[in-house]
Amino acid sequence: MRQATVYIDSDALQYNFNRVKQLAPHSKIVSMVKANAYGHGVKDCLAALDATDAFGVACLEEALEIRQLGYTQPITLIEGIFSEDEMTHVIEQKLECIVHHTQQVEWLIQHKQAYNALGLKVWVKLNNGMNRLGFKVTEIIDVIQRLKAEGFTCVLAMHFANADVDHPLNEQQIEQFLQVKEACAPILSSCCNSAAIYKYPELHFDFVRPGIMLYGASPFADKNIHDLDLKAVMTFSAEIIALNQIQQGECVGYGSTYAATCPSKIAIVSIGYGDGYPRAYTQQNFVAIDQQLIPVVGRVSMDMMAIDITNIKAELGTKVELWGPNRLVDDVATANGTIGYELLCRLSNRPRRKII
Ligand SMILES: *Cc1c(COP(=O)(O)O)cnc(C)c1O
Repeated sequence: MRQATVYIDSDALQYNFNRVKQLAPHSKIVSMVKANAYGHGVKDCLAALDATDAFGVACLEEALEIRQLGYTQPITLIEGIFSEDEMTHVIEQKLECIVHHTQQVEWLIQHKQAYNALGLKVWVKLNNGMNRLGFKVTEIIDVIQRLKAEGFTCVLAMHFANADVDHPLNEQQIEQFLQVKEACAPILSSCCNSAAIYKYPELHFDFVRPGIMLYGASPFADKNIHDLDLKAVMTFSAEIIALNQIQQGECVGYGSTYAATCPSKIAIVSIGYGDGYPRAYTQQNFVAIDQQLIPVVGRVSMDMMAIDITNIKAELGTKVELWGPNRLVDDVATANGTIGYELLCRLSNRPRRKII
């Protein structure tokens, strides 16, 4: 059988969750499990995250999946509902909505009795510079006052555009957020994703919303998970299925982009872009075998790729770590011109999944 496997380490997930608790001891934790728990498999991850105060997802379908699995924690729909008919499910399944445009506010007010009777909060999104979702500073105070007058409990929420770096917009976003928070006081509030949890301890407020850090990948380009004291949750692995001895000058793979500079031992690994391993390859890329880094050579194909094992002992069936504790997904991402988030989320469902 083809050995392409995604291992999920639930102890590592719990370790990272406890890191959030350590960093933000006075805030409730909304664990972000959108996009199938960042590609990790929502079913396995929820079990490890059972101590969380709430979950955050991108849409109703993702919330319903969590309810079907039997979890009763609050769930926030971080983009709110997409049409009024979704309110039926919101009420039935006790889901909390974000509102980021006026129509969502009207839909919610139509159902205010049922919604408020369930003790659900409304998250009101401020657009303070990211210009993706939310009400402008000039609009949001009226929206919050209206919702409060209709009996809703509001959470003021925003999202940083540059929490992972030093950027002048950060100060502007913080200033506007605090200004609205003060104008609407008393109000619950939430503005920290993973990067901001590390960077802005003074802004943790009532709810923090960690995503990537839970899964043991870094939100920062210049800090890895060891710097952040996190553990890799996913190990993506495959096996060597063929060995080739090639001569100097011989090429490997499509496009013959790689030519051996000396006699080389090449191993073919049963993994490719059809599994979610990136084909891009802008810089030299590596896999790990027994904690040792081994170069990837030539183009990655749909089901296979080649590595240069000239300097190590490896044979048919040797396990190869595409990413995991010994070859960080963030490093694979950097070598391929993307970020860990993307590689994790875009894994295909071809690899088997195992929880450990
Ligand atoms: C995805 C998301 C998060 C989590 O972001 P990370 O960078 O993965 O920690 C937090 N808040 C909102 C609104 C999100 O959409």
